Amino acid sequence: MLRIKRDTVVYAMSPDNAPAARAKDGDTILFETMDCFGGQIQKETDQLGTLDWSRINPATGPVYIEGAQPGDTLKVEILLIDLAPQAATVESPDSGVTGLAATEEHTKILPVGEGKVVFNEAITLPECAMIGVIGTAPKAGAISTGTPDLHGGNMDCKRIGAGTTLYLPVNVEGALLAMGDLHAVMGDGEVCVCGAEIAGEVTVRVTVVKGATLPLPFLVTQDAAMAIYSAPGLDAAAEGTTLRMRSFLIDAVGMQPHEAGMLLSLTGDLRICQAVDPNKTCRMEVPLSILDKLGYVFP
Ligand code: CA
Ligand code: CA
Repeated sequence: MLRIKRDTVVYAMSPDNAPAARAKDGDTILFETMDCFGGQIQKETDQLGTLDWSRINPATGPVYIEGAQPGDTLKVEILLIDLAPQAATVESPDSGVTGLAATEEHTKILPVGEGKVVFNEAITLPECAMIGVIGTAPKAGAISTGTPDLHGGNMDCKRIGAGTTLYLPVNVEGALLAMGDLHAVMGDGEVCVCGAEIAGEVTVRVTVVKGATLPLPFLVTQDAAMAIYSAPGLDAAAEGTTLRMRSFLIDAVGMQPHEAGMLLSLTGDLRICQAVDPNKTCRMEVPLSILDKLGYVFP
């Protein structure tokens, strides 16, 4: 299996990034990832204000996938996420939503293991490993790994976990897939600007899909399908993901436009992925059971 080392990272997704490795269509790849702090927070005296900000949000890669051409879709099946034994989270003034009220900076180290994340003596949370940053290169320019957009990136969608399939756009030859910023657990919104930030290893299988009709990025979990959409404000992100799922139901599934809208209103769940990054991200979830009844099969 191809292994991409965690010292091979980028801080922007760009067509100009040199590939860290080349993979074949259908290959399984293991990405070793650093946490979003680049490993700079190891103990509770390590504070956000003292970090080297040029090392924030490293994404491992990029990997060039042979046969991926602009206009194709890259299917990324997330097979396994292994986490390091400890995570870190930080709250600080002016960071995220809770930073609007916070007056002091605090770091918390969270032991992780046996499927659990220890928050404090009273509270232990079930581990729910997810990928915060995952994307392909945009067609032109460089997009910081801190920013989510149509190429994916820092979407901080807690549903992007093991056993799910993420579809990403291929904007340049080889797609240039990169990822990082794992969280051991995170709530929708990521309101203090951090999940349980952690290093780890992600095993994925990559497949190039020709001629797919999906609004990208698009995620299929064990029980739901969802467009993921990012925009400068939450209103625009919410509208964007809703209209993309409407288009999916019409163009890919074959529904009548009015029924697509009605169905989304009756059974779709519009949710916030994160409310704290340079673009905000929302998702509109539709139960897979509904798509099954409509006879839709994912590419
Ligand atoms: Ca993130
Ligand atoms: Ca993060």
